Order: sequence, then structure tokens, then C-alpha cells
Amino acid sequence: MTKKLAAGTTIGIIGAGQLGKMLAQSAQKMGYIVSMYDPNPSSCGFNVAHSYTVAEFNDRDALLKFVSSVDVVTYEFENIDGELLKELEQNSYLPQGTKLLLISQNRLEEKKWLNNLGIETADFVEINHFNELVETTKTSSLPAILKTTRFGYDGKGQIRLNSLVDIEENAKNIQKLIDQQTLVLETFCDFDFEVSVIVARDLEGTIKVFPISRNHHAHGVLYSSLVGEYLSSELTEKIHQIAQNIADAGQLVGVCGIEFFVTKDKQLLVNEIAPRPHNSGHYTIEATNVSQFDQHILAITGHSLMNIRLMEPALMINILGQHMPLVEDYKSNYPDAIYHVYDKGKATKQRKMGHFTLTHPNLSELEDILYHSSSLQTWQEMF
Ligand code: AMP
Repeated sequence: MTKKLAAGTTIGIIGAGQLGKMLAQSAQKMGYIVSMYDPNPSSCGFNVAHSYTVAEFNDRDALLKFVSSVDVVTYEFENIDGELLKELEQNSYLPQGTKLLLISQNRLEEKKWLNNLGIETADFVEINHFNELVETTKTSSLPAILKTTRFGYDGKGQIRLNSLVDIEENAKNIQKLIDQQTLVLETFCDFDFEVSVIVARDLEGTIKVFPISRNHHAHGVLYSSLVGEYLSSELTEKIHQIAQNIADAGQLVGVCGIEFFVTKDKQLLVNEIAPRPHNSGHYTIEATNVSQFDQHILAITGHSLMNIRLMEPALMINILGQHMPLVEDYKSNYPDAIYHVYDKGKATKQRKMGHFTLTHPNLSELEDILYHSSSLQTWQEMF
């Protein structure tokens, strides 16, 4: 069903963190009214919403009331209970759907689904008992990463295992995780580099792919995204095909972030999919003619997606809680950068508080800053 929503109608956003906030800002630019839902009363998105509801994500009555008060519903928060989400879909207009979300909520299901589509991932084994882990690691190669199947993000719920000694030393922690949920033991990928891409799909099934970004993580958290022409056309083409495959098979409406490992022999392994705007796509606010947030709003309101053009190469750097006292000083280091501070309140360690983006006509200038600037090195060491 293609339903075109005009300016003046109301978009309900479930989740009012920074992604919800930036979605709201895009929506308001286009003339929509925005209502938001989040359990945290000081959610940064609430500051830009026309109205909001404070209630838990598993509060069925509050969620049903919320979705019935808006013209279209979308979400930026991934961990809403699957059954509840299906109920919301039946009781409201949720063009974004639930298929990709339900798949991505479970790492194990996500990997199986990708493999069935012919998309490669790092090798993995399901782990339900501690003994299973010990037996598996006797025969399969270490190092590996033990991950929770649910509720993991930014490296949370992950334990790197280099040897059997690591398993013994982490036994208590591992047992605690196993008691809560199924785990996935994933072969450690000694990748050459990491990339990600944001794919958008509209209600007509048209797909647009944003420029690919090359990402650096520190302790599992995204540190930088660099965007420009640096990949071979063959690798770019392969990434586009995988993105289109996922968008079509997942019946995506809106945007989805896809993270890849590029191995030393240029093999592509998908690490993770996130059916919503993605941190590595924040550069699109300044560097492309249309942002990931704009495309998402266009898609869920029944409009055609825009063609995407990279205006200039870009470098995005995340700002975590521990960086906040340095932000003002860094403004003078990078006077041409655009700073986004999300206004999330308490700047705790490792909490994503903002990002800044530099654009430049020459990618090499940005590479120079990323790899050789001493002040950025200090920034990275604080991750
Ligand atoms: P994730 O939470 O799965 O997105 O992981 C966060 C980051 O941890 C990734 O972007 C990688 O930098 C690293 N990582 C996760 N899984 C692996 C793996 N199997 N091999 C190597 N690095 C990994």
C-alpha cells in the first residue's frame, strides 16, 4: 500500500535518542509534526518533539495508545519485543515493517538469514552450554569472539577469546551470559579494514545506496568514518549488490546500515545489519545532497527516494562522554568541522554524546588528518 503523507501529518518515532532526534529534525524540516516515545524522561529527542510519551518499551498499553495517536510510526530503537512490534504493526501504519528488525534482533538468526541469501559472514557456532564452548574451542580455531545473540551493541556483550586460558579466566562472566541467553562464537576476522553502507528503499521498491564509508572502531565503538572514492569499482559493485539483496529480501522501507569486514584477500563478510539510520551514516548530513535521515522520512511518508550525490569527501569523528571537556578546544583545531552535540545530559565514559564532520574536496587531506594529526590521535586514544 502506498500512502503518501503530506506536511502537517504526524510521525510517531519510537526511541528518542540521537537517531530519533535527527530523524525528527529531518521530518520537521519537511513540515511534519513529530511525536516521540521513550522511557527516558530526559531523552534528547524530546527537546525537538512537538509532543512525547514517557513509558517503557514493553508497556503494551502505552505503546498502543501512542501509535494510535499518529499517522505513521517509525522506530530508531531496535530492541522492542518482537511480538509487541507485530501487534503495533497490526494496529498502526508502520511502513518500515518488522521483518528486518526481527531478523537483526538476533545475531544468530541474522547470520543464518544472510548466509541463506548467499551473503557471507564470519564463521560462527551457536553456544548454549559452557561445555559446548569448551568442546568447540578444542576443535575450532581461536581467536574468536563470543557474542550475545540479543541486546548487544557497540561491542557490549562481547568477550574476545584468544586461548583456552581466556575461557577459564572469563568462566564466571561467560556462565552469566549463557544463563541469560544463547551465545554465538564467531571466528575472529583478521580483516584488512571495515566498511559500511547505508541502503535506502522506498514503498515502490526503488533502492538508493549511499557512498561507502571506511570505519575505524576502538574497543568496539565507532571512532571514525571516512568517505570518498578509495575502493575498487569491483568491491564497490559487490557491496552495492549485497546492500540491494538485503534491502529487497528484507522488504526494507526506510534506511538500513550494513557493516562489513573486508578481508586481506578482498572477501566481503557482513558483520551486522541495523534497519534504521546508522552512526556511520552521520556524514550524510553535510556531505551528500540528501541525508540518511531525510531518505528515511521520505520513504516512510510514501515519497520517492532522492538520487544520492556525494558533494565532497567527508570524515566523521564520534564524540564520547570522556571527550566532552575537550570539545571547545577541538573547535579551534578543526575550525571547518561541523559539530553535533546531542544534548544527552550526563557525559558518562563511552557514551555517544555527539560527532563532528569535516568535508574537503580532496580525500587525501582528510586521510592526512585521520592518520597523521596528533590531536586526533589523542582523541582516538581516549576511546
Ligand atoms: P559489533 O558489535 O558486532 O558490531 O562489533 C563491534 C566491532 O568489534 C566491529 O566493528 C569490529 O571492529 C569488532 N569485531 C566484531 N566482531 C568481530 C570479528 N568476528 N572479528 C574481528 N573483529 C570483530
